[in-house]
Amino acid sequence: MGATANVTRFAPSPTGLLHLGHAHAALTAWRAARETGGRFLLRIEDIDPTRCRPDFTDAIRQDLAWLGLDWDGPVRVQSRHLTDYRAVLDALAARGLLYPCFCTRSDIAREIAASAAAPHGPDGPLYPGTCRRLSADQRATRMAAGEPHALRIDMAAALAAVPAPLTFREHASPRRCDPARFGDAVLARKDIPASYHLCVTHDDALQGVTLVTRGVDLLPATDLHRLLQALMGWPAPDYAHHALLTDATGRRLAKRDRAATLRDLREAGMSPAEVLRLAGG
Ligand code: GLU
Repeated sequence: MGATANVTRFAPSPTGLLHLGHAHAALTAWRAARETGGRFLLRIEDIDPTRCRPDFTDAIRQDLAWLGLDWDGPVRVQSRHLTDYRAVLDALAARGLLYPCFCTRSDIAREIAASAAAPHGPDGPLYPGTCRRLSADQRATRMAAGEPHALRIDMAAALAAVPAPLTFREHASPRRCDPARFGDAVLARKDIPASYHLCVTHDDALQGVTLVTRGVDLLPATDLHRLLQALMGWPAPDYAHHALLTDATGRRLAKRDRAATLRDLREAGMSPAEVLRLAGG
């Protein structure tokens, strides 16, 4: 009997040109699909208009096509689906699992500095819960005045609404989740009516992704994603986080360090086969 046909995806954010680390991630997902007769999807995670650019989206398609990493079906471009994410937020809000947060960064920093304990989560210091304690009237007044606000998950309420402990399969072994270490995470930003955690989890479910392959830097985030799946009744895909490619000095390849882009390598005369070999083929 053959292996299950995996539905996988490569989900880059178009904030720059792809480098070898991206080629490694794309190749890992492409292989996991092709080797099992499954499907490989391409999704553009471009909800942040201040960081994403359409020319980088075009470059992603060109680079993948040049490498021969062909994808199945239409490309999902997240910025065209903000109403989908809104619907999820509305569903969570209707169950009392979200609250508006009017705090600025400096409000939060001040509150944290004034408190005795300042616990940290995977995304930084935990939100001290200031706006969770607002009364319904205070919230309504500030909303009516049009004060900008993010939407945060009420972590304690969310955890009470799902069976414990949550687990997911990481490289085929069960792994226990601890979403509480994110605290009241932001699910919709002040400037963007969505967030990475919300969109990625929604889209993996919507697109029927059965195996999520991605860098190990996103392993902690999976605890929060699993919580959203449990709250929304979405299936939990299997996960296989992979090591990040490093440069000769052992440093992680990153756009900000001007790691050689796939375009640089192509222009330097490298063939797709050579690039795929460097990317872990
Ligand atoms: N869009 C994310 C990134 O570029 C990856 C999302 C994921 O694979 O879950 O880092």
